[in-house]
Amino acid sequence: MSDVALAPAPTGPTDAQTIVSLNGVSKVFSNGTVALSDMSLDVRRGEFVSLLGPSGCGKSTVLRIIAGLGDATSGSVGWPDRSNGSGNADREIGFVFQEPTLMPWATVFNNVWLPLRLKGVSKSAARGDVTEALGQVGLSKFADSYPRELSGGMKMRVSIARALITRPKLLLMDEPFAALDEITRFKLNNDLLQLWETFGWTVIFVTHSVFESVYLSSRIVVMAARPGRVFDEMSIDAPYPRNEDFRTSAAYAEDCRKTSAMLHAAMEDSGHP
Ligand code: ADP
Repeated sequence: MSDVALAPAPTGPTDAQTIVSLNGVSKVFSNGTVALSDMSLDVRRGEFVSLLGPSGCGKSTVLRIIAGLGDATSGSVGWPDRSNGSGNADREIGFVFQEPTLMPWATVFNNVWLPLRLKGVSKSAARGDVTEALGQVGLSKFADSYPRELSGGMKMRVSIARALITRPKLLLMDEPFAALDEITRFKLNNDLLQLWETFGWTVIFVTHSVFESVYLSSRIVVMAARPGRVFDEMSIDAPYPRNEDFRTSAAYAEDCRKTSAMLHAAMEDSGHP
């Protein structure tokens, strides 16, 4: 990805201020499915947190509740900064889904413009920000292309540009790279880390890949299913920036081994074979 100009000063992964906290959140769907039970989680400013767990353990439900796309049945979601009136910037949440969910009839430019357009920003007024966002994800030359002309990785880049156009402080990502081939995924992992460090984002990243979660995260929260809950968690202390040297290091292999053991224990606790 290319030069970044609209970034605020990075807050970095060490700032310990809580940006969002789930307090005893439970979610029971109308068909009786208990998707989450008494889930508590604090996410601190600047963290890259992965939610890792077996399918059906409630990872997407957690993201949707944090995004305000679904309500908790009981418990609460707290935004400490918002309550003291200083956290307006934190109201902006970027959401990246597994599918790029682009409008097929619209150009790349118009897809990225959408969130600003919904806020009433005209195309000409948005042009600078859209162009900049496309530059940040390496798609400057594709503003006039249509989604059908792009590879899966490029579509995902458009989706990321669309998420960052509103300059969110918190980025929620639901298995964004799961459908991509491994080489593309590795490249996007690196680009995402670079953007995260540059912008000082807080990221909550859903994945079921041990390897991806260890590579990216400052902290991994392992969830168990039936009902969905936090099973265990682990800090990944390897310094950033991380690159292919980390991916091939003994420290990475060891963290993957530990995380994998944690995930297996969570699956046993979930009644998975
Ligand atoms: P994950 O993202 O970890 O795969 P989800 O959050 O998608 O898990 O789902 C958690 C549980 O809630 C699953 O058992 C799923 O089938 C169920 N679930 C998710 N959405 C709904 C819904 N709208 N209605 C009923 N059950 C749902």
